[in-house]
Amino acid sequence: MKTPEGNGSTSSLTGSMAESDALTSLVTDAGRAIDAAATLDELSDVESTLMGKESAIAAARRGLKDLPADERRDAGRAINEVAETITESIRERRLVLSAAEQDAALAADRVDITQPARVPRRGTHHLVSEVLDEIIDIFASIGYRVARGPEAETDYYNFTALNIPQTHPARLETDTLYLDYRGVGEERTAGDERYPLAHAPNEVLLRTHTSPMQARYMEANDPPVHIVVPGRVFRNEALDPTHSPVFHQVEGLAVDDGITFADLKGTLAYFARQFFGPKQEVRFLPNHFPFTEPSAEMHVSCFSCGGSGCRICSQTGWIEMLGCGMVHPAVLEHVGYDPATVTGFAFGIGADRFAMVRHGITDLRHFFESDLRVLRQFS
Ligand SMILES: [Zn+2]
Repeated sequence: MKTPEGNGSTSSLTGSMAESDALTSLVTDAGRAIDAAATLDELSDVESTLMGKESAIAAARRGLKDLPADERRDAGRAINEVAETITESIRERRLVLSAAEQDAALAADRVDITQPARVPRRGTHHLVSEVLDEIIDIFASIGYRVARGPEAETDYYNFTALNIPQTHPARLETDTLYLDYRGVGEERTAGDERYPLAHAPNEVLLRTHTSPMQARYMEANDPPVHIVVPGRVFRNEALDPTHSPVFHQVEGLAVDDGITFADLKGTLAYFARQFFGPKQEVRFLPNHFPFTEPSAEMHVSCFSCGGSGCRICSQTGWIEMLGCGMVHPAVLEHVGYDPATVTGFAFGIGADRFAMVRHGITDLRHFFESDLRVLRQFS
C-alpha cells in the first residue's frame, strides 16, 4: 500500500498524537524554527513548512480518517491545539519582525543633514527680455499702456503712414525684408528697373521698426494716447558684432492737447534716470527722422565713468540712448487727427543696445546665439 503523500512518518505522528512527548517535540521544533526566522520572508517560508499542505500537521489531519472512530476525536483536538499554538507563535514573531523591519526602513530613510545641498539649476530671463520688461515697467508706472502690433506689416503702415517718402532708401530691398513681391514668383533684385523704388501700399514686409503701431493705434483710438510698443524688428543686415537682422525696440507715443517738446524732455529724462541712475545728466542733439519734426537724439552721461570717458562710452562721456521728436503733422493727418488741436511726441529705444551698454557686452551676436555659458554670466 502506498504511503500517504509527502511524509513517511505521518501515520506514526497521527498514531502517537495522544502521546504528549510527540506533541511537545513538534511544538518545540516549530518554536525554534519560528524564532530562527530573521526576516518576514524567512518567516513565511517557515510558516508554509509548518502549516502548509506538505506539513506534518496537514498530513496528520489527512491521517485522521484512518484512525479508529473512538480515537479520531481526541487526536483531532490535539492536532488543532498544536496548530493553534504554532499559528499564534508565528503571529507573534511576525509582529516582532515587521516592527524591526519598519525601524530599519526608517533608519535607512533618515535625512543626512550634513550632506552638501544639491542646488537645482534654474532658468532666467534673457538679458534683452529683462531690459524690455524694465523699460515697459518704467513707462507703465507713469501711465503708459502697452500696445503690440504685427511683425509682418504692410508697406503703408511701415513707411507711408509714417511720412517716409516713396524714394527713401529704407524702402529698398537692400534694407528691408519683403515677404510678398508684386511680381509673384519672379526674382526681384535691388535696382531692377522693371520695378521703381516705390512699393504698393499693401505689399507685406517684416516691420523695420515698432513705429507702425503709432498709426495703427491712433486709427483705432482717439487722443489722449500714451503707449509703449515693445517688439522684434527686422532689417536686411548680416549678423556681425554690431548688426543683426533681428533686434528689439520699444516705441513710445504720447499725443494730447498741448503736448510740447518740454514734455518730451521731461518724460525722457525721467526715464533715463530711472533706468541708468538718479544722477544722470541728459542732453538732446538735433537729428532727422521723417516721422518727427523737430527730431532729436537723447544722450545720457556715462553711468560707468561719470563723464570722464571710458570703453563703454567710447571715451566721449556720453551714451546715445534713443531717437525722439515731436510727431510730424503729416503722421497725425494720416490717422485722421487734427494737428491744429493735438500734438505729441514719439521715441524709439533699442533694447539690445541698452542691454549691451548696461552689461558691457561688445558683441551683439551673444544675444542671439543662446550660448548658455555666456548668458549665465549675466543671470
Ligand atoms: Zn564712460
